[in-house]
Amino acid sequence: MDMKVLVVGGGGREHAITRALSCNSDTKIFSVMARKNPGIARLSERVLLEKETNIEKVIPFATNCGVDAAVIGPEAPLEAGIVDRLEAAGIPSLGPTRAAARIETDKAFCRRLMERHGIAGCPEYRVCRDPEEARRFIESYDGDLAVKPIGLTGGKGVRIMGEHVDVAGAVEYAREIGGSVVLEERLVGEEFTLQAFVDGEHLIPMPLVQDHKRAYEGDVGPNTGGMGSYSLADHMLPFVSRRDYEKALRIMTDTVAAMRAEGTPYRGILYGQFMNTREGPKVIEFNARFGDPEAMNVLSLLESDFAGIVGHIIEGDLAPSHVRFAKKATVCKYLVPEGYPDAPRANEPLTLGDYGDALLYYASVEERDGTLHTLTSRTLAFVGRGETLEEAEAIAEKAASSVSGSVFHRRDIGTPEILEKRCQHMREIL
Ligand code: AMP
Repeated sequence: MDMKVLVVGGGGREHAITRALSCNSDTKIFSVMARKNPGIARLSERVLLEKETNIEKVIPFATNCGVDAAVIGPEAPLEAGIVDRLEAAGIPSLGPTRAAARIETDKAFCRRLMERHGIAGCPEYRVCRDPEEARRFIESYDGDLAVKPIGLTGGKGVRIMGEHVDVAGAVEYAREIGGSVVLEERLVGEEFTLQAFVDGEHLIPMPLVQDHKRAYEGDVGPNTGGMGSYSLADHMLPFVSRRDYEKALRIMTDTVAAMRAEGTPYRGILYGQFMNTREGPKVIEFNARFGDPEAMNVLSLLESDFAGIVGHIIEGDLAPSHVRFAKKATVCKYLVPEGYPDAPRANEPLTLGDYGDALLYYASVEERDGTLHTLTSRTLAFVGRGETLEEAEAIAEKAASSVSGSVFHRRDIGTPEILEKRCQHMREIL
């Protein structure tokens, strides 16, 4: 499709969005990002270096570029109402309005919506308005809880009893949060991500992905934004049965129907993070955009014209035939600065090696005088694609190891050992 598209955001996820759009040379890309991402900049006709939430600057840029549509990468501009403002300026978006984005930006809204509509997979939860109410609930609850702030935390705001904190620690954390908190039963199982294109009514799922949140090999160390992820050639995961998958998909379609029934139809990417438990999949959270790194797995497989999909979402006539993914496995490995996430070493030079057949996605990195330098967040990601997971992993691993500089990555992501560990864990639960 011959289209001018605005991409909002400057991380690895947005580089993956931009690359996928650029596969069609008729698609012209314009981008907005706070800091220049060299990968996105190279694929863009014009770049606005501006905070993605600075909507006052984004709208005139989008209008001047004459874009036909916008794709919103991160959650912060969605929460700031960028989609509503673009729409008012006559520019439709792949992304929900501020009201619909509450599915991510307000955890209490999400849980109550699921409850009101009797949607399966909602964990037991309680919204407490102050730390004292939270204390009473935590101390009287029989079992472990997850303690979460209501709003956005970049995926790092959750403390789990039995994992990070004890009862006293959970009470203390609720006090630290200060205002409202969500307390949820601690879910035990294997996590997976199901992302989907949604046009307000129809939902088309993407391949299942599993992310790795912990910083170090063997799933130890502090939580991060995600160190890497994998997907399999059949688009499923071995610890998610066909029945569990159907249940998760049903939870997503029911949620889209609930949003529509409440007068806030959901248009954009719906990201479902699930815990596959003994009772089947339960919703850890919904996000109102692609995951990072999960976007890199699925968009590296997209065979259909991405701008074409955006067009169908805008028209509200999205159908399965519009979306096709290659039947290949993917492994994404993030390189992060030494010391990440607690004390990342920024401003360190990096040298790329021969990264073979891997796709390279730039994230939090700066190009100075032709040399790449680390910043404080995730640096670069490599995606390997292959007929098998082993093949994809070998490509990603070789590429990640070819970079020299003060960075590290998890060598275990996508290996048969870690996959077997996941399956073993699932067998123990059932
Ligand atoms: P979130 O910010 O909701 O994505 O949560 C971050 C991480 O915390 C998730 O990836 C899970 O590993 C964990 N988590 C969140 N909620 C729960 C829960 N109710 N039970 C167990 N783990 C959870």
